Amino acid sequence: MEWILVFILGAAIGSFLNVLIVRTPRDENVSFPASHCMSCDTPLRAWHNVPILSWLYLRGKCAFCGVKISAQYPIVETLTGLVFLFTALKLGISFQAFGIAMVFSLLLSLSIIDFRYKMVPDSINLAALTFALFSVASMGEFFTHFTNALLFAGGFTLLRFYLSYAIKKEAMGEADIMIAATMGAVLGVQLALVAIFLSAILALPALLLTRTDDEESQQLPFIPFLAISMWIVLMFDTQISLYLEAFYG
Ligand SMILES: [Zn+2]
Repeated sequence: MEWILVFILGAAIGSFLNVLIVRTPRDENVSFPASHCMSCDTPLRAWHNVPILSWLYLRGKCAFCGVKISAQYPIVETLTGLVFLFTALKLGISFQAFGIAMVFSLLLSLSIIDFRYKMVPDSINLAALTFALFSVASMGEFFTHFTNALLFAGGFTLLRFYLSYAIKKEAMGEADIMIAATMGAVLGVQLALVAIFLSAILALPALLLTRTDDEESQQLPFIPFLAISMWIVLMFDTQISLYLEAFYG
């Protein structure tokens, strides 16, 4: 029963993330006006806002004007529900697990915004970092998270200096450094390095597939790969740590 509640909580948060995904890139207020149809502007009734179920019940159409509603809404709600469920299964039901689930939910919306609009809003990025820093059970743990965030943000900054010098233009943005800090805080330095490595492996085929001669359009959104790699490393952290230990002692 509690797992169902955890999923429902996640789906409800996913519903809010949908609002962030649609409104943040346009610089609109996220709490006002209330949800309305994007086509006919009719404000939604309460039962039109039930995560996943409303969309299924309405068969993906607005109840008033019948215009199609993007499948992105139920997909984001379902994914966020699953993020909450698997985080709780992995870490137990706790304040910490809630924070970590929030980190990944925010990274999910960042990934979609990066993919669709090729932008990474600082507001969502910093919110993810804040949850990553404060998802702790003790003061000591907070300092560990904070130190790892600093180490990783610093490491990325150094890498950026070298890369930018090597390719003679600005490599990576500030957004990537914020994500790096989040990765360090959530995973710790060693596992965060594994996640970076994994994201490069995952991005490589996509990079080759989307290769064009036009340099302008060659901007592959990298946040989704970082987020997915982080998620995989968190879910298999025990196995990966054992493997690293066997390998490097
Ligand atoms: Zn409508």
